[in-house]
Amino acid sequence: MLSDRLRCCVPGCAHSAARVTVPECVEVMCEAHYALASPAAQARRARYEDRLRALQQIWNDDAYFDRLVASGKYLKMCSVLSLASENAERAWGDIKDEVLGAAAASRDVGEKVGAAA
Ligand SMILES: [Zn+2]
Repeated sequence: MLSDRLRCCVPGCAHSAARVTVPECVEVMCEAHYALASPAAQARRARYEDRLRALQQIWNDDAYFDRLVASGKYLKMCSVLSLASENAERAWGDIKDEVLGAAAASRDVGEKVGAAA
């Protein structure tokens, strides 16, 4: 059984964060680091995660699933779902890039300040 708290994915960070509700989520970021991402990237990720969760919810609905198969739209829904999960993954990747970049930059500044002192 996996813990629902994971270590923040930013190297050197000792914080942990609750696993988000997406089941396949394996990486999390603590609030302080997440806040380093731009509002635009955060909004984009929130939007994609919402969409993915909504799709997964109807996907797990048996009645919907039966209708889907009966209407012959099963394959279409598969591709919609996989696109949504790719988008969510990419949005998370963007956030990680921004945050890791910002974290590295502030570390560099810290080192330079330290070296100058
Ligand atoms: Zn962190």
